[in-house]
Amino acid sequence: MGGDEERSRETWIPIAEPFLTDLETRYVAEAMASGWISSLGPFLKRFEESFARSIGTSSAVSVSNGTAALELSLAALNIGPGDEVIVPAHTFAAVPAVVVRAGATPVFVDVEPDYWCIDPELAVGAITGRTRGIIAVHSYGHPADLAPILDAAERLGVVVVEDCAEAMGARYQGSTVGSFGTTAAFSFYANKVITTGEGGMITTNSPAIAERLRFLRDHAMEPGRRYFHSAVGYNARLTNIQAAIGCGQLERLRGLLQRRAEILELYRQRLADVPGIIINPVMPWAEPVNWMVSVLLPSDCGTRRERVMQSLSSAGVDSRPFFIALTDLPPYARYRRVGRPGEDSAPVASRLATFGINLPSSPRLTDWQVETVCDAFLAAVHGSWEDG
Ligand SMILES: *Cc1c(COP(=O)(O)O)cnc(C)c1O
Repeated sequence: MGGDEERSRETWIPIAEPFLTDLETRYVAEAMASGWISSLGPFLKRFEESFARSIGTSSAVSVSNGTAALELSLAALNIGPGDEVIVPAHTFAAVPAVVVRAGATPVFVDVEPDYWCIDPELAVGAITGRTRGIIAVHSYGHPADLAPILDAAERLGVVVVEDCAEAMGARYQGSTVGSFGTTAAFSFYANKVITTGEGGMITTNSPAIAERLRFLRDHAMEPGRRYFHSAVGYNARLTNIQAAIGCGQLERLRGLLQRRAEILELYRQRLADVPGIIINPVMPWAEPVNWMVSVLLPSDCGTRRERVMQSLSSAGVDSRPFFIALTDLPPYARYRRVGRPGEDSAPVASRLATFGINLPSSPRLTDWQVETVCDAFLAAVHGSWEDG
């Protein structure tokens, strides 16, 4: 390897990085040595059981990724053609993708300006006679305001699916997210709070739904009747090797979250004097986790976000823009969108898409690295503010 490549690997600070230790290595070696490398094996049961305990639900069903967790949730709840599913206008595109792939119709609801999750009032107002579900996404580590949504859903016979992919360990009104919805989806992709490389989990308090999910996950083959498939199934199984990594990560969850919180606190201190920016908002009823350090630049800074990102990159610091508003993406532009009264658009989602930046937030970052990122950010915004 050339010297330059080595140096850049040393100094480049990535946006996210998995944090694995000897514990995960040991568990993976154990799984390998046991021969159980596919979708049967002791680590799967152990991962599902300890996961359910950590969220506080009666069941947890492991799946191949977070998207599959959402997809199987919709399938198990019989959501399909003719049904509407309400989703936030600002989140990862897997959310509306599973709705469309189920044959259902997404309805995009703008997000709350103060904490960037689905606006509960608008979501409740968007419910029609055809609405079957609401996917409440806990975005950038912050819980959605579930109470009004759960309330209306119960009254009107709508199911709530939580998307906890970005918020494992966060709490809403004192309880862990993932314990409120009819089902809740988690992702263990490499940049999430815990990782199994690829992987996901569905939590539920309904034994019947858990059973249905296990059935759908494994080709919809009837238990006890080999090759009798009584529905159109999926292969959405997690492997015992992935579950071994998951068991290690879950044992370390408290420490991982603790370090993530320390890192966010360091960012808050270092960037406290930058005028007009908002860093990971926190509502009084919420105990978020730090999935990503998410900075919203003030709207009057014009289009300088791209210049800030470029300047960070030159300083060896990785960053990401916030998600593009889903209503601005080609496959989703034709669906109904609900904004503040009088607006059939999603202005908050658009503003976040234009002015939001995610900064490095791996729990592996040292304090010194966080300080390096902050110095680069300060230099970038000052440069950008001044010559704009
Ligand atoms: C990451 C993510 C997903 C998808 O998870 P994968 O494991 O990548 O399929 C779904 N929803 C949200 C909000 C996410 O951030």
